[in-house]
Amino acid sequence: MSSTQDIYDAIIIGAGTSGSYVALGLVQGGMKCLMLEAGHDFDKNSYPQSELDANSQLFWGGGVELNSSADIGFLRPKVVGGGSVVNQALMDRFDDLAFDSWREASGVDYFTREYMEQWYDKAAEQISIQTVPEAYRNGNADVFRNGFEANGYCYAPLQRAQKDCGHAQGNSCIVCLGGCKRDSKQSTPITGLKRAREAGLELRADFEVEHIEARDGEVRVGGRGRDGSPSNYRARRLVLAAGAIGNSKLLLASGFQSKLPALGHNFHTHPQYMNLALYEEPVDAFKGPLQSYKSADHHFRHSGFKLENVFAPPVAIAMLIPGFGRLHQRYMKKMRHFACIEVAVRDSSPGRIRLKRNGDLLIEKTLNDEDKRRRDNGRDALRNIFYATGASEIIEGNVAIGLHLQGGCNMGLSGGHSVTGPDFKLHGYDNIYTADSSIFPNAPGLNPAFTIMALSIKAAADILAEEGR
Ligand SMILES: Cc1cc2nc3c(=O)[nH]c(=O)nc-3n(C[C@H](O)[C@H](O)[C@H](O)COP(=O)(O)OP(=O)(O)OC[C@H]3O[C@@H](n4cnc5c(N)ncnc54)[C@H](O)[C@@H]3O)c2cc1C
Repeated sequence: MSSTQDIYDAIIIGAGTSGSYVALGLVQGGMKCLMLEAGHDFDKNSYPQSELDANSQLFWGGGVELNSSADIGFLRPKVVGGGSVVNQALMDRFDDLAFDSWREASGVDYFTREYMEQWYDKAAEQISIQTVPEAYRNGNADVFRNGFEANGYCYAPLQRAQKDCGHAQGNSCIVCLGGCKRDSKQSTPITGLKRAREAGLELRADFEVEHIEARDGEVRVGGRGRDGSPSNYRARRLVLAAGAIGNSKLLLASGFQSKLPALGHNFHTHPQYMNLALYEEPVDAFKGPLQSYKSADHHFRHSGFKLENVFAPPVAIAMLIPGFGRLHQRYMKKMRHFACIEVAVRDSSPGRIRLKRNGDLLIEKTLNDEDKRRRDNGRDALRNIFYATGASEIIEGNVAIGLHLQGGCNMGLSGGHSVTGPDFKLHGYDNIYTADSSIFPNAPGLNPAFTIMALSIKAAADILAEEGR
């Protein structure tokens, strides 16, 4: 085993949304930090070119991981930049409904819109956020808007972390989900993480952490590089930013469950269902900006679902449409005529992340009757939208997709029911922190990334204050 004698001020595990912004705060505060990331360090010229290569090279499990009943597919990013590289970059500030339920579930009193506003503002300083100009919204956006207006539903333009998508030059954003080839999407490798590296952050990519140990006032971290060679590192503090599944997996593999009985519990995913509709005229949903509108309907929000206009690249669409052989081919030939709207459920039934005896991941997550009711309410609304705009056929997605992976190290006041305290420290540990998606007390029903950024910036400020820097 190779061993590094250096003792870092902090090691950050995971170079995704949270890790990048915690690291930025810490190195700017003068701390000597090492970041370890299992995924590869790409740039705009080296991101995979095809959809299949992007799936297999930027995600864990070769593209998708399944729950134990194989009816929810999770897309878990594995790349320097994490979710910020492969996501749709939609930025939401949480509303009162989300923060009230977080406060109730966790007992943490700073979960209020008023208090969090300052941290959202700090997050907004780090990236460019835009709405897609009306002139460039595509045919899929037209279906969404017209259908909402015909039914009297409320909608709003989406806020995206982007800088120059080149819509005026006819650029199509569908490839954006495999890493932005024009450095428009505000992924962390060109924003927060770039600044952190410039300020002295050491990054080791292609390195999977397998084990952590807290001993004698320091933390030891062991893992393997891409070629299988092991390395160990030491630090005074550890920041877990491996995401909802990654943090639980690592802590379970390292035996932390004896002190943290809630570890791996309270796992939520906002199960999403893509629904397609066929139109006589071409919709060309894959052209231009990927997404433009979201539902902003009070009734939808309180019914536990949201709708967004979205389209997937061709391979994903091929997996979503039904049938085999000629039937499947008949649908695929109509690719230009599909519109697509996604229903995302604010899931009320928590799942659980566990390890099998051999150490493999086991994700137990189902929809209870209430969650199914929420999904079906969403489908009712989208049927109204599609038929009001002249759809001839609707294909309802039956496979749930989990993109917003949350919980497993939920924040709360007591060690029995939660894993992380309001000071971002694991209960009972004075030098292990997490501020990523794993700390969510429940499913907010809104896009999580901007709140993860805000909380991570706050966590870094809290750690620096503790350090007296
Ligand atoms: C296709 C897609 C679309 C999405 N769209 C949106 C959107 O529009 N808006 C929004 O708000 N959210 C969206 N999300 C969700 C959002 O991207 C995530 O919630 C967010 O990135 C989570 O941040 P995180 O820091 O918790 O984890 P991540 O960003 O996932 O980062 C975790 C990192 O840790 C690394 N890691 C894990 N385990 C280890 C280990 N053992 N050793 C070393 N490294 C490890 C991973 O490889 C990963 O890079 C989307 C997600 C996907 C997949």
